Amino acid sequence: MTITLRNVTKEYHMGDIIVRALAGVNLEITAGELTAIMGPSGSGKSTLMNILGCLDIPTSGSYTIDGQEVGTLNDDELAITRNKKIGFVFQNFNLLPRMSALQNVALPMVYAGVNKKDRMETAARALSMVGLEDRRDHRPNELSGGQRQRVAIARSLVNNPAIIMADEPTGNLDTKSGNEIMEIFCNLNNQGRTIILVTHEPEIADFTRRILHVRDGEIVRDETRGEAKQCS
Ligand code: ADP
Ligand code: ADP
Repeated sequence: MTITLRNVTKEYHMGDIIVRALAGVNLEITAGELTAIMGPSGSGKSTLMNILGCLDIPTSGSYTIDGQEVGTLNDDELAITRNKKIGFVFQNFNLLPRMSALQNVALPMVYAGVNKKDRMETAARALSMVGLEDRRDHRPNELSGGQRQRVAIARSLVNNPAIIMADEPTGNLDTKSGNEIMEIFCNLNNQGRTIILVTHEPEIADFTRRILHVRDGEIVRDETRGEAKQCS
């Protein structure tokens, strides 16, 4: 699953004012990469993530996933592409408070029309992959921050996406929990999943081999390092 951006711009119209959030971005990410996006507030990171995650389309330029042009899809087609190919993890976990860990993890499969027995089996398996098989009946407020984010990662996995997009996934966690979350991403990456994450923290970016530095809507530096922090 290769994803390619060619000369992508994104403009927001605010009345008469046009805000250019992305200005001619070129980027190729091949299957199985673990990539960090860094940059100051307002530089265009979220806009880039929204386009990569098929939540929004470019104003101009081309975005292809495995050769399929995304920019010409209508909203329904965009949603289908998103649900099949991409898992999302957020800074604030976005778990439903009245549901158990297991029910939260199973939710994307409700929308995908999977029957209840398969949903529960797949959700239980995803929870074991993040080491939370003994927390399946806990609600989010009965879990630590790191455990909540692990539930969110399990939820991102259940439709078996090729790409996981994570926006500041460790932003609300202490160092130890943040490192545990990065270990999980490392392991998922070692299984061949493409992972793209936004972070402000250099220590988190150290888990990746590639860092895209964004400034004023452009990728000003595409940094590849020989070594990344090893996952155990
Ligand atoms: P970052 O995630 O790096 O903080 P964003 O992608 O959120 O940056 O924003 C990039 C630029 O686009 C900023 O100037 C921001 O104000 C503007 N912007 C982002 N989203 C919108 C929107 N929905 N409407 C108008 N302007 C926006
Ligand atoms: P950690 O030390 O791992 O960051 P906590 O100290 O927050 O986590 O929680 C320790 C354990 O207690 C966790 O395994 C969590 O599941 C459980 N726990 C935390 N808060 C609650 C709660 N309000 N109700 C029930 N169990 C809880």
